[in-house]
Amino acid sequence: MTSNALIIDGYVDEPACLGVAPYISPYVRDVAGVLSGHGYAPRYVTIDQVRADPSLAAACGPGDLVVMIAGMTVPGAYIGGKPATLTEVQQLGTLLRGPTTAIGGPMTFGYAPEGGRKAIRQAIAGFDVTLSGSPAVALDAWLSGGEPAGAGDYSLTDPWSVAGAPIIAQHPAFPYVMCEIETATGCSRATVGGCSFCTEPFYGLPRYRSIEGIAEEVAALHAAGARHFRLGRQPDLLAYQSSGGEFPVPRPEVLEELFSAIRASAPDLATLHIDNINPGTIARHEDAARAALSAIVAGHTPGDIAAFGMETADPAVVAANNLKAMPDDVFRAIEVVNDMGAGRTGGIPELLPGLNFIVGLAGETAATFDLNGAFLQRVLDAGLLVRRVNIRQLMPFEGTTAYDENTLGMHDARFRAFKEWTRTHFDEPMLRRVFPVGTVLSDIVIEIPGRPSFGRQMGSYPILVGIPLVLPAGSVLDAVVVGSLLITLLRASDRVHAACLAQLVNTISAIRTEPGGPAWRQSIFHPFSLTARHAAGDVLRPDLTAPTLDTAKHGTVPVLDAVATWDADARRLAVFVVNRDPDEAVIFEVPLVAFGDARLAQATELADDDRFACNTQDEPDRVVPHAHPRAAVTDGALRAELAPASWSMFLVDVA
Ligand code: SF4
Repeated sequence: MTSNALIIDGYVDEPACLGVAPYISPYVRDVAGVLSGHGYAPRYVTIDQVRADPSLAAACGPGDLVVMIAGMTVPGAYIGGKPATLTEVQQLGTLLRGPTTAIGGPMTFGYAPEGGRKAIRQAIAGFDVTLSGSPAVALDAWLSGGEPAGAGDYSLTDPWSVAGAPIIAQHPAFPYVMCEIETATGCSRATVGGCSFCTEPFYGLPRYRSIEGIAEEVAALHAAGARHFRLGRQPDLLAYQSSGGEFPVPRPEVLEELFSAIRASAPDLATLHIDNINPGTIARHEDAARAALSAIVAGHTPGDIAAFGMETADPAVVAANNLKAMPDDVFRAIEVVNDMGAGRTGGIPELLPGLNFIVGLAGETAATFDLNGAFLQRVLDAGLLVRRVNIRQLMPFEGTTAYDENTLGMHDARFRAFKEWTRTHFDEPMLRRVFPVGTVLSDIVIEIPGRPSFGRQMGSYPILVGIPLVLPAGSVLDAVVVGSLLITLLRASDRVHAACLAQLVNTISAIRTEPGGPAWRQSIFHPFSLTARHAAGDVLRPDLTAPTLDTAKHGTVPVLDAVATWDADARRLAVFVVNRDPDEAVIFEVPLVAFGDARLAQATELADDDRFACNTQDEPDRVVPHAHPRAAVTDGALRAELAPASWSMFLVDVA
């Protein structure tokens, strides 16, 4: 018997793990695997969905189980989602009186509403159970009758990560979901106490996940529809599977094996990015680090970022906080990553460094901000490329040195001035250097519709792109969806006598314009126009036999949808058909023997190799109907090969 379980993703952000939409964290997926193993059929909603519709959570009743994952230890600015606040979490705990409730994730370490404030560890009111340590291990222990606590253990979590992979299909951004993949937890610098502010040493010394475990999870995610992956859950990817002291020597051959195994598990992946790289590792083991970076560049996808936790350019602050790298070490590491990764593929740099600064650390003085600015100016003057500079205020956690030793609130004006200077004097020229005029950014996913609409590519810290249009645009896929809808309406023409197209110009419309500029047709215009022009007479219901496609939302569906009309006066048969399969072409055959002498008068196809291609002001005719390249009427039958994700129309004249 299965029971109901709901996972509420309140989002997580830690130094070595991101789980804010469109990212989905390994915690959530492992918890889904545990729930499946205990006989639950887990559902998944994000905190953004619950905010918009509280009934999604409130519908849970007695006997149900709700598990929430939440917590920020390095809060940032987010576009894809708004993380749950402590107040929201507690309100949810109070609202959910019927079901049993459990909460886990970094929120159990402590909470502060924003950077610059101490994160206070406190009981989270309203929840029945707090999952301590690894949320999945703790949940499994508790559901098995034990205490809700337990440390991470890959022999347990690897099978759960496979079993929980299908949960990604319930993410509201699916299939544009970035799967944060775990390769390690814990930090080798825990032996020397770790950096003063960091919570990663709470997980102890590094525990590395096996390549086999990672590859099996990636294969399961890929089978569930994932195409975007980031190796983000670890403090230093260069140290993967290495040991020995504070700064283990990189093992390039192991990274090569890791990337090969991931590629084999997800052969048509679209994104494979990384996150944290310790600049101290590069500075201390330059040759091995160069070979390891080369393995990453060979195995990943372009536009990648190696995020350096630099924190400060003030040597006194580095020393006072036991940080991992002196400013000169970081500068050398920037040079090395530029050497290995600044080459461009498709106009986009392969792998560039990103720099993270923290303000409020012990030992900071006004001069620290001058040193930070001078460091960035040195990078600019050296002609180096840096993809991103992140500046945040310390959020000290209980149990870290920085909880008691910090300079929070002492240099607020300098903090704001440094941020402002960086945005105007560093980011602007650097962005022009990294993305010169003419750079093509492909596959932008619109996240904030409007005018302009804002979107980003799937990836590690992608650049925010503003497009002066009301989007989403009509892509080939949208055209196929519209074509399929028209087929459905035609088949129901005994009941549907009129169907009006409400939006004609701009917002989700068939025609797009620019103020004072041109107008152009969206791809969806064409199936609408051609169907309106050629569907005439009686509607014939085809008896279709077609392959099927497994979909997350609609179950198993036939890949073909078709309808035909017979105009007895014009003696013309019009056949409309869509191939919904995004990857495979399908052979389509219609017997015409009953119509006698038949001739193909017109065969039209709407398709594109890039199914997200759309018509724009600069390229208004990118997606237009064209003569069908693979269609004929021979031997009493219409035969055609239908391209993946395509809409086709065939007009057959009968003597
Ligand atoms: S090197 Fe420092 S910042 Fe990085 S994970 Fe270890 S303790 Fe944290």
